[in-house]
Amino acid sequence: MQYKVGIGYDIHRLIEGRPLFLGAVKIPYIKGLLGYSDGDVLIHALCDALLGALALGDIGELFPDTDPEYRGIASSRLLGIVKELLDKSGYKINNLDVIIIAQEPTLAPFKKQIKEKLCALLGIEQDVLNIKAKTNEGLGAVGHLEAIACYAMVSLAKGG
Ligand code: MG
Repeated sequence: MQYKVGIGYDIHRLIEGRPLFLGAVKIPYIKGLLGYSDGDVLIHALCDALLGALALGDIGELFPDTDPEYRGIASSRLLGIVKELLDKSGYKINNLDVIIIAQEPTLAPFKKQIKEKLCALLGIEQDVLNIKAKTNEGLGAVGHLEAIACYAMVSLAKGG
């Protein structure tokens, strides 16, 4: 059995007049995440964790924000492209752990839906994905409702 691990991090600015997408789920809130794509910080961190484990660089290299093809793109489509790279490598997701850091909105009511959505997009069982959501205790940009950040860590396995 061969194993690989990868880590991903992302932060996006929260602004008014944008929808809020986290894990390809639209969450009702007065603000949304600014970004060249739909700003889905969770999916971006997840893509970077997968790309990291595969030693394939990062999301910015793969989907440059200078490329008009990616303007306003649903991040679920970016994850689909990363999933193809994963499938090509022969590795499978062993487990995936995610931390969303958001002062607002309260994400507990949406965690189940986010989990189901991500499992469907990645073709994995629910017992290999864990989603944690926490506030930033009112501190810094996240605590002041200016941003939402996310960490993701993935373990991949092949063979055996
Ligand atoms: Mg991003």
